[in-house]
Amino acid sequence: MNQVFSALENSKATSSDNQDESSSAKDKLLKDELAEIIHQAVRDNRSYLMEHETKEILEGIGIATTGFLVARSEDEALALSEKIGFPVVLKIVSPDVVHKTDAGGVKLNLTCAEDTRKAYHEIIETFKYQHIEGVTIQKMAKPGIEAIIGVTRDPSFGPIIMFGLGGVFVEVLRDVSFRILPITEKDASEMIAEIRGAAILNGYRGHAVDLESLGQLLLKISQLVMENREIRELDLNPLLLYPDGYVTVDARMFVSEPSTGENITSTGRESLRDFFYPKSIAVIGASDVKGKLGYNVFWNLINHDFPGRLYPINPGKDSIKGIKAYKSILDVQEPVDMAVIIVPAKAVEAAIADCCMKGVKYVVVEAAGFAESGEEGKQAQEKIEKIIRDHSCRVLGPNCSGVINTHHNMVQSIGLLGDLKKGNVGMVAQAGVYAAGILTGLSNVLDFGIVATIGNKMDINETDILEYLSDDDHISVIVMYMEDIRSGKRFMDVASRAAIRKPVIILKSGRTEAGKKAVSSHTASLAGNDEINSAAFKQSGIIRARDNEHLFALTRAFSKQPVPKGNGVLVITYTGSLGVAATDMLYLSDMRLSTLEPYFQKRLKNVLPDYTSIGNPIDCSFSMSPQQVKDLIEIGLESNDVHSFIVVIQGEMLSSFVDVMKNIDYKEKPVVCCVACKEFMIDDVVKMEQAGFPVYSTAEMAAEVLSEMYHYSVRRQSAIADSIARHLTRDSLSVDNMPVRLRLINPKDIGLWTDFVNGCSQKSLWLRFLSPFSATPERAQRFCNLNPEEEIAVVAEMKDGDQYKFLGIARLIKNKRCEGEAEYAIIISDPWQNKSLGITLSEQCIELAKKEGYKTIRAETLQENYAMIRIFRRCDFGFDGKDESMVSMSLKLS
Ligand code: ADP
Ligand code: MG
Repeated sequence: MNQVFSALENSKATSSDNQDESSSAKDKLLKDELAEIIHQAVRDNRSYLMEHETKEILEGIGIATTGFLVARSEDEALALSEKIGFPVVLKIVSPDVVHKTDAGGVKLNLTCAEDTRKAYHEIIETFKYQHIEGVTIQKMAKPGIEAIIGVTRDPSFGPIIMFGLGGVFVEVLRDVSFRILPITEKDASEMIAEIRGAAILNGYRGHAVDLESLGQLLLKISQLVMENREIRELDLNPLLLYPDGYVTVDARMFVSEPSTGENITSTGRESLRDFFYPKSIAVIGASDVKGKLGYNVFWNLINHDFPGRLYPINPGKDSIKGIKAYKSILDVQEPVDMAVIIVPAKAVEAAIADCCMKGVKYVVVEAAGFAESGEEGKQAQEKIEKIIRDHSCRVLGPNCSGVINTHHNMVQSIGLLGDLKKGNVGMVAQAGVYAAGILTGLSNVLDFGIVATIGNKMDINETDILEYLSDDDHISVIVMYMEDIRSGKRFMDVASRAAIRKPVIILKSGRTEAGKKAVSSHTASLAGNDEINSAAFKQSGIIRARDNEHLFALTRAFSKQPVPKGNGVLVITYTGSLGVAATDMLYLSDMRLSTLEPYFQKRLKNVLPDYTSIGNPIDCSFSMSPQQVKDLIEIGLESNDVHSFIVVIQGEMLSSFVDVMKNIDYKEKPVVCCVACKEFMIDDVVKMEQAGFPVYSTAEMAAEVLSEMYHYSVRRQSAIADSIARHLTRDSLSVDNMPVRLRLINPKDIGLWTDFVNGCSQKSLWLRFLSPFSATPERAQRFCNLNPEEEIAVVAEMKDGDQYKFLGIARLIKNKRCEGEAEYAIIISDPWQNKSLGITLSEQCIELAKKEGYKTIRAETLQENYAMIRIFRRCDFGFDGKDESMVSMSLKLS
């Protein structure tokens, strides 16, 4: 292949061509001729692509580089330097030289023919004992901010991307961010914002670098690597960032045969519903000898009133605890849904074979002595794996403590467990002992629904359980205690979907760097396991807990309280210092104190002693009483700026608060409490917790928990909005031959919305809102910041200079009283009325409503609103009825 290319013509990527390309993302990014460079290298058993080859590929997908012309003689080097124009850079081209500068293979800033000649000779001399293909001649890039982008592969998560600033930032500070590929636009901008050096990119006056083209660059790299599975590692190092665009100065790539085994997205297996709700259980190894594990398991099932049939299997007994026992599971006449095996390791294989023969669908192996205990155990585990693979039998364990499902009165734990209340927390724990130990203590303050211990996870793993828990309606919070995560890709796929439905909180141990693999690229050496896990959790919307205490602090709040609908917090305290502590943490975690409007302050004054000054935090001083706190909360509930409460209570008075606090209608606004040194008043704390109020020993933890809850709900709503937006048409629409774009409204649209309303005539506004209407900041908030589960607004917008402007807005509002029904309303700005925009927008909304599962759309409008009635008729709405002024119409979907 001819390696001299005239690439300099297109060596500058602008953000506008980037956009054009991402819109045709369906097409393969890399043309076949260039992909051939990679394939050829793999066929030739070469794993390393040199700078000029890598740059050629990058240029091929529109990434700007300093060029890659190769000269093979002194004359050619001179000619090319002249052609490119001084100053130029010369670099060694050799498959044996990976780090060119270290070896003396980079000559910078050559300003004349004489420099080039000298540099050429020096390079040839330095590398005379190596295989030299030539030298690259490239333009000397102008100074910019140095950055690095890299890609490497993780055995569990597949390809991952890294971004950081160059030089000391990456070398010394390791200031880099990671994401699992592929990434979205949002991931790209988050990973740029996440590095500590982000301030340097933002600059102090306007943007120091072109963040948009940098984001597009990350997306292109993502697509390139996803489409070409031979790319194992890729480094763009360095990359120079400018206020307009960027340029890649050096690049290299490592390739290999695509590995199999990663990118598993789904097992495609059926739901584990019957696994968590079996109708009958055989306990193989059930015993009536106290102290034996087989005794404990059977005792737990009986004492928690397991509602289905139980079959103790024990060759030496006729009955156990009054229930008929069997010598073998094969002696049981009726079908058996599930078997729990708690026999010595060497007897497990035969027991599993029996279960398979009997046609048992689910087996829980609580017995230990397998892969966790050395080579012999590993082989034993492989044997049972082989047996189940030949049958459609699914296994939990071995080396686990079974499953608890309080909603099915099923407790299979190895340790004896007392009464458990039915709760909404679902937990996955790798270690059985951990789950049991925690349960005993926590059952005082937290009610579990399902607890599954997965042990060696030979078959059923954390992801399978997570997937099920996200489906179970009894569960509203999912907690995971994990040591390792296998098939990371599938985990992320399942976790992202689960996190949209309910909060998923994870405590992942093993944050250390142990187990790092031998790596060749810079990126790979920076990508520790923990960084990758963190990136994966972030991308999937999972909340990562720091430690046990944090894990259960969060879990208690999510389990007992609704999530805040905004970030305004009212802090009620008896001591100023804890109020300050709460305030600091609120602001550090992106929350804020609610504003106390004047009328609100006046009402507060009536409740508080004269000597207290009114402000947020409200400091009631040591005279704080339960009634006073109740009054303050009730006043706070009426403020639109109060979205949640922190109440700091004196420990010695806590018990007097329980009943009063229980009897408040909180109108879906969350409350968390802080009791300093709560561990010394544990009885009252437990009472408070049981009444539904999480109690923390520090004000900081209380603030942090509210922040996690609020940010979880923001992420969740935006993920829901994203999935709805995917149902909107991507076809280009036009009205009056002008291109019009449809999208969902979002909280950043306050300015555009306000301009739109201000631009509408009073008559149009009256017809839409049935009363005089103007754009106030509160209304702008209310109309742009929507809960997508309750209301969606689709805007039609058009480019106006380099900005967009709204032409019309249509809303679908879920009717809470009537399942499957949405109310529909639309407004078009005056100059765009009667131009088919109303119909186009309505048709799109009707399609969207169908995809969202609505059965009926209803609309009401003034009788004199002929234009609107015409739109509804055109969209096949039927007439439902009218009164003196209004007409109601509806459309059945399906
Ligand atoms: P290597 O990483 O193999 O040592 P590079 O190609 O990255 O070699 O070159 C080393 C350094 O020289 C770069 O980090 C950059 O600072 C500088 N450099 C290399 N090529 C150019 C260029 N075309 N324009 C400006 N500076 C360059
Ligand atoms: Mg380099």
